Amino acid sequence: MTKPTTTERLATRDTLLGEGLPIRRALPNKARRTIGAWCFLDHAGPMTMKSHTEFRVGPHPHIGLQTFSWMIAGEILHRDSLGYVQVLRPGQVNLMTAGSGISHSEEAMPITEPMQLHLAQLWIALPDSKRHLPPAFQHYPELPVFNQGGFNITLLTGELAGRVSPVHVHTPLFGADLNCAAQADATLTLNTDFEYGVLVLEGEVTVDGESLASGTLLYLGTGRTQLRIQASSHARVLLLGGEPLNEPVLLWWNFVARDAAEITQATDDWNNSNRFGEVKGYEGERLVAPSVEGLHLRK
Ligand code: MN
Repeated sequence: MTKPTTTERLATRDTLLGEGLPIRRALPNKARRTIGAWCFLDHAGPMTMKSHTEFRVGPHPHIGLQTFSWMIAGEILHRDSLGYVQVLRPGQVNLMTAGSGISHSEEAMPITEPMQLHLAQLWIALPDSKRHLPPAFQHYPELPVFNQGGFNITLLTGELAGRVSPVHVHTPLFGADLNCAAQADATLTLNTDFEYGVLVLEGEVTVDGESLASGTLLYLGTGRTQLRIQASSHARVLLLGGEPLNEPVLLWWNFVARDAAEITQATDDWNNSNRFGEVKGYEGERLVAPSVEGLHLRK
């Protein structure tokens, strides 16, 4: 007997990032705040940028999380308060561990002709035992890539089909990008202890028999041994998973914490102290933290 499994379709919402880049936000979601430790998911593009000024996010702080940037098309530049300056290119991941506090900026690389931009930016909530560690930054120029059933699969985090991603995370976590140019049909082995979700980035796919349009997030719950994903033409999805978080996390602006006092302190420190260091070389203003007044109205 297999126990019944969940499928829950979740709406994503369109918003603007930084100085006006249109993005689709899938997490946090009204109906679901996390999938494993994945607690934030923005999808930008695919789009054509006429000017690199369309993607600029000035220096801003983070605590309690790892930022995970997955580049599909285009090039962006990361700078942080540890002194890292790193170009992120297609097929690569930047992983920034905020821990007790870091600040960074992100901007498109200068272009002289229109450039395709396509990326996913995610946050991973750090467990309580790791969230006060010193900050760190890692660039992963290469990840495991293989073909299964016509899908080109890039293993972002965790393990699949005997491969292991080098990306260093702190809780049992899974992430993969699956894309196909034409018809594809793959059945992936899942970890029954993990909950999973699929976000369709491009095209249409059928997951567990459900037809999903681009922009749909399908939550899949725990208890699955495998998952069938089918496409009849060009499509791209993100499959995310992990052990359900057993601690409540509080997200506010760019902070992941446990209570309002920590957020209030971090906000005050960003606006009034040097706790988050300095991002050198970014030509533009640092972001100002919003007022925490509304925070106390939220649970
Ligand atoms: Mn950031």
